[in-house]
Amino acid sequence: MGNGAKAAQKRERNADKNAAKGSKSQAKVNEAAKSIICATCKQTFLITTRAPALEQHAVDKHNKTMADCFPGVTK
Ligand SMILES: [Zn+2]
Repeated sequence: MGNGAKAAQKRERNADKNAAKGSKSQAKVNEAAKSIICATCKQTFLITTRAPALEQHAVDKHNKTMADCFPGVTK
């Protein structure tokens, strides 16, 4: 085993430590922060979803406006 393999092992151990640190509650918080929820059908969208895509969902799926389905989202 050369030095390269040892370094790789060390990185793996560090990755494990970091994975253990990210608790389930933190994952829940992240999930909530990531979600835009359609008020009509409860479909979830990533927080990064662009307004036009949300508007398209509202219009195409429900024949409503974006404000009806995503009241908290501004264009
Ligand atoms: Zn919807």
